[in-house]
Amino acid sequence: MNNGLMNTYGRLPVQFEHGQGCYLFDKDGKQYLDAISGIGVNALGHSLPALVSCIQEQAGKLLHTSNLYAVERQEADAQKICDVSGMDRVFFCNSGAEANEAAIKLARLHGHNRGIERPVIIVMEGAFHGRTMATITASGNRKIQAGFEPLLSGFTRAPFGDIEALNNIARNNPDVCAVLMEPIQGEGGINTTTQEYFQAVQALCADHNWLFMLDEVQTGNGRCGDWFHYQTQNITPDVVATAKGIGGGLPIGACLAQGAAAEVFQPGNHGSTFGGNPLCCAAALTVYETIEADKLCENAAARGQQILAGLCERIGKLSAVTNIRGQGLMIGIELDRNCGHLVAAALDKGLLINVTAGKVVRLLPPLIISEAEVESLLDGLCSLIEEEVASASSAA
Ligand code: PLP
Repeated sequence: MNNGLMNTYGRLPVQFEHGQGCYLFDKDGKQYLDAISGIGVNALGHSLPALVSCIQEQAGKLLHTSNLYAVERQEADAQKICDVSGMDRVFFCNSGAEANEAAIKLARLHGHNRGIERPVIIVMEGAFHGRTMATITASGNRKIQAGFEPLLSGFTRAPFGDIEALNNIARNNPDVCAVLMEPIQGEGGINTTTQEYFQAVQALCADHNWLFMLDEVQTGNGRCGDWFHYQTQNITPDVVATAKGIGGGLPIGACLAQGAAAEVFQPGNHGSTFGGNPLCCAAALTVYETIEADKLCENAAARGQQILAGLCERIGKLSAVTNIRGQGLMIGIELDRNCGHLVAAALDKGLLINVTAGKVVRLLPPLIISEAEVESLLDGLCSLIEEEVASASSAA
């Protein structure tokens, strides 16, 4: 059916009319527990009064002036992000892909400044960094690249979590200028690795004057139990890309950098018309102030533990459940079969989940989720998976 839109999304047959806290409501008033938060965006849930009034107030004052002028809200937001992250400078943009584009350009400039004519960035198998040409090239997923060739040059790929593969590239490729990875691969299936790996990558980058760059578009802004995932791992990247939860629902992304990396961009090197506009920056500042005041990083850590423990106890022994993993409120349940159909079955039950990488049920609930809401999420999800297993075995 031609609804006037380009045919880019397969959509579920539901339209939401309003939201409150961790719940969305459709036109008939049916209530849905939102365990996906608009793919990790609605960090504060829906219709939080502090966020609504901040947006209303800022909209009444000033929406946009451009980066031709100083933007007070942008500077206040950058300062707050630097304070909590330990980074030195921020470039604001409008999405996760753009935050990664900024990181990629920064890395190439760093390479050129070091005299590398054709700088190369190491990226990971299974990665997802966005839908622009540079970010689909950086992503390790043929499905999103196919049909869009020629891809960009200047990337080489390694298996995620394999330090020997990186050592090998270091020995053989003098043109490397940076490593870019998600600390937990989101779209790739909630793939995790170890603190030892991150520390070894950081040391390798330092040894070779490569930039250590993390894509924290999905993991950042409180989701994994601290402001950024790297703060839970005792590492300090040079560059961090983030977006999603930072604006609580408004479109804003940010590229953060520290040390020498923070001094790479000079006037004229990069820019964005909308990036860092007063409205999105006011919202992002309120999101950060709320995360801090309401201890939402701590809540993400505690509720994440509750979810992992509940899942392990209730469905961990089912042979169809091959793995339960994640950190904070970024959790994957891997089944031994494709399970995309569970999304529609959950919707029927009033539960919003997502399936990624074919077999992985993904949970990204709002950071405000309560202990009681986690229990109802567990009830709904575990019964859904139990029913899936029972119906598959009775059909066999
Ligand atoms: N990087 C990661 C890790 C993501 O999960 C995503 C989106 O899912 C992106 C980048 C792209 O973000 P956006 O869709 O805002 O461009």
